[in-house]
Amino acid sequence: MKYVKCPCCGKKADKTEENCPFCLFRLTPFTPEEEESALKSALKHIFSPMGYFMADFTIIRAAAKKGNAEAQCRLGDVYLHGFEHIPQSRRKAKMWYKKSAANGYAPAAEILKRFKEL
Ligand SMILES: [Zn+2]
Repeated sequence: MKYVKCPCCGKKADKTEENCPFCLFRLTPFTPEEEESALKSALKHIFSPMGYFMADFTIIRAAAKKGNAEAQCRLGDVYLHGFEHIPQSRRKAKMWYKKSAANGYAPAAEILKRFKEL
């Protein structure tokens, strides 16, 4: 049997599985449409107690690295507060808010303005 390392939880999963049996992260490649809808729902429920935080985080981080401004802002939120296994980092939060604002995402620019007061 062939295994792949799940990019979300790091556990080994059977290569033929569509979703990771441990964290339910999607293992088979997304089409661009699927990627977009996965990102949409990840952005919506990343902080929901019913969501799968690490799976959402992985999707959002990948989109942020590709330059998605809304994902960059949400990633800033994650680092600003710290959540589950992601430790708080004001430095990383600021970096992602800056990238997001530079990409024209207004809410990130607003947060940056308040950053000095936080
Ligand atoms: Zn997994």
